[in-house]
Amino acid sequence: MKITLTFDNGPTPDTTPAVLDTLTRHGLLATFCVLGHRIAAREARACAERAHAEGHWICNHTWTHQTPLGLMPDPPAAVAEIADTQRELGNLIHPDHFFRPFGGGGNLDQRLLQPAVVDHLIEGAYTLVLWNAIPRDWVDIDGWVETAMEQCASQDWTQIVLHDLPTGAMRHLDRFLHQAKDAGAVFTQSHNPTCTPMLRGKITRPLEGYMASGPVLIEALTEKK
Ligand SMILES: [Zn+2]
Repeated sequence: MKITLTFDNGPTPDTTPAVLDTLTRHGLLATFCVLGHRIAAREARACAERAHAEGHWICNHTWTHQTPLGLMPDPPAAVAEIADTQRELGNLIHPDHFFRPFGGGGNLDQRLLQPAVVDHLIEGAYTLVLWNAIPRDWVDIDGWVETAMEQCASQDWTQIVLHDLPTGAMRHLDRFLHQAKDAGAVFTQSHNPTCTPMLRGKITRPLEGYMASGPVLIEALTEKK
């Protein structure tokens, strides 16, 4: 049972420092998928700087995190969500140029990307950081640990999405890490190759399942949402 920890949608001065403290106590390193608009604020940036200095990896997770990129009708606007964030990250960028798209509530489908975005990612030699477990900590504040444990037990290598947001859910991070260790989990900072369909700009697994291609599909997906 292998686990890769990722924390999305931060950093937040209310919660990220405590998450970093907990990870340090457990001797673990993670990936923080941060939002550009948050990094633009001084206190949040300081959290990301600290994470980076402590050996965690920083990943671009779009600027606004408002509309999944596959559902944005304007391709240049979708590309700007990535490019603006990358510019803001500056010295925090990992050499592999990590990028994590979002599907709105964890959906891992054609909402994630669109052709113009894929072209931009190839050009920028980005590495896609997807996931295979979402215990929905932002909804199930006190119950997500049990879900996470089940998800980790159900597959060899779990790349889990948690959120360093002030929901209260991260109060249980320490308990999760203890339970996982007791269950024999081995933690790794490396990303699971099955969750990495693009590595430094090279497509390693088919992207069709993650890409909207045309207004009809975008409409259909929007309705599904
Ligand atoms: Zn997200």
